[in-house]
Amino acid sequence: MNIHEYQAKEVLRGFGVPVPRGKAAFTVEEAVAAAKELGGPVWVVKAQIHAGGRGKGGGVKVVKSIEDVEKEARRMLGMTLVTHQTGPAGRVVKRLYIEDGSAIDRELYLSALVDRGTSRISFIASTEGGMDIEEVAHKTPEKIETFTIDPAVGYSPYVGLDIASALKLKGEQAKQCGKLIQSLYSAFLAKDMSLLEINPLVVTKDGQVICLDAKINFDDNSLYRHKDVQGLRDLEEEDPMEVEASKFDLSYIKLDGEIGCMVNGAGLAMATMDIIKLYGSEPANFLDVGGGASKEKVTAAFKIIVSDPNVKGILVNIFGGIMKCDIIAEGIVAAAKEISLSVPLVVRLEGTNVEKGKEILAKSGLPIVSGSDLADAAQKIVKAVKG
Ligand code: ADP
Ligand code: MG
Repeated sequence: MNIHEYQAKEVLRGFGVPVPRGKAAFTVEEAVAAAKELGGPVWVVKAQIHAGGRGKGGGVKVVKSIEDVEKEARRMLGMTLVTHQTGPAGRVVKRLYIEDGSAIDRELYLSALVDRGTSRISFIASTEGGMDIEEVAHKTPEKIETFTIDPAVGYSPYVGLDIASALKLKGEQAKQCGKLIQSLYSAFLAKDMSLLEINPLVVTKDGQVICLDAKINFDDNSLYRHKDVQGLRDLEEEDPMEVEASKFDLSYIKLDGEIGCMVNGAGLAMATMDIIKLYGSEPANFLDVGGGASKEKVTAAFKIIVSDPNVKGILVNIFGGIMKCDIIAEGIVAAAKEISLSVPLVVRLEGTNVEKGKEILAKSGLPIVSGSDLADAAQKIVKAVKG
């Protein structure tokens, strides 16, 4: 799960991480009030969307008067902000963050993530922080250094000093950096983060080391034990179909293709997507209805799939193990009738009571095409869609 920058800074503040003072604002009036409360003389008006690259897209402005805070707040609220991370459709700005402006001496890069290669938490550091870290990674990867934390030891001061040295921080600043890394590591563990990115980490003109931007991803599997984090979720930043799917406990990810998929089991779903590609089309989604797919779940899944205007055909690929094929077939028929399906539907069933299941589909009077195996089903739906 993603959260906004202002929420991430609030979380980090709770662990003693140095971040500038700031206030969230949902309206122009709130932005002006926040600016007055902060007092200036320099403010930063920052668009809050779940994507980075805001600075280059016009979503971060440093201003020197309350009038300019108001002007920028008016411009940003409601604008569609397009950045290299939002895709061409962009995101509508609904929240702002008004923050104390910092006098920046150097912009550095620092992040922490769960490194699946080593099964450990790693910090990544670079002296080349700011808005172009992707380019640094691409053109001068040697300027990015990785530091892995041994979980048996946890944070120890030498890690902080190593990172400080990679960031070319000395003396007092190296000390601040060590303390900051210790706090970030504590926050990362305590809140079950999967990614924590500070870009930029800055050294101010008066020698303070502080986080000017913060991005946090939480591990979804741990959310049940962090009610406070759950409260930070902003559904408006998520794909509406994915939100709907999560209500029915369906694992759904929208993709750009034309064939909607309804599958049980993540592995089978991946295989189904692969085979659609093999036969020359593209999947419109990943959808795992899970082990205990009830009629309600199947109907909800169908509705979500057909609400995507890109979907030109549906492939259902279900293995009836815990759920028997006849029950699944009944669910498919009921759902197809309820939503009056207007695109071709190919169903491949396998497993317990498969013959009964196929019979139910055949007798339903609906134009459902049966696939004998995965390859056959995939070829049939691709052919139906391509015409
Ligand atoms: P994004 O990564 O989405 O572009 P950032 O929060 O990193 O957004 O802001 C972009 C740039 O704006 C930063 O690299 C920094 O130069 C400047 N900036 C951001 N916040 C502040 C601040 N509080 N004071 C001064 N400059 C800032
Ligand atoms: Mg940034």
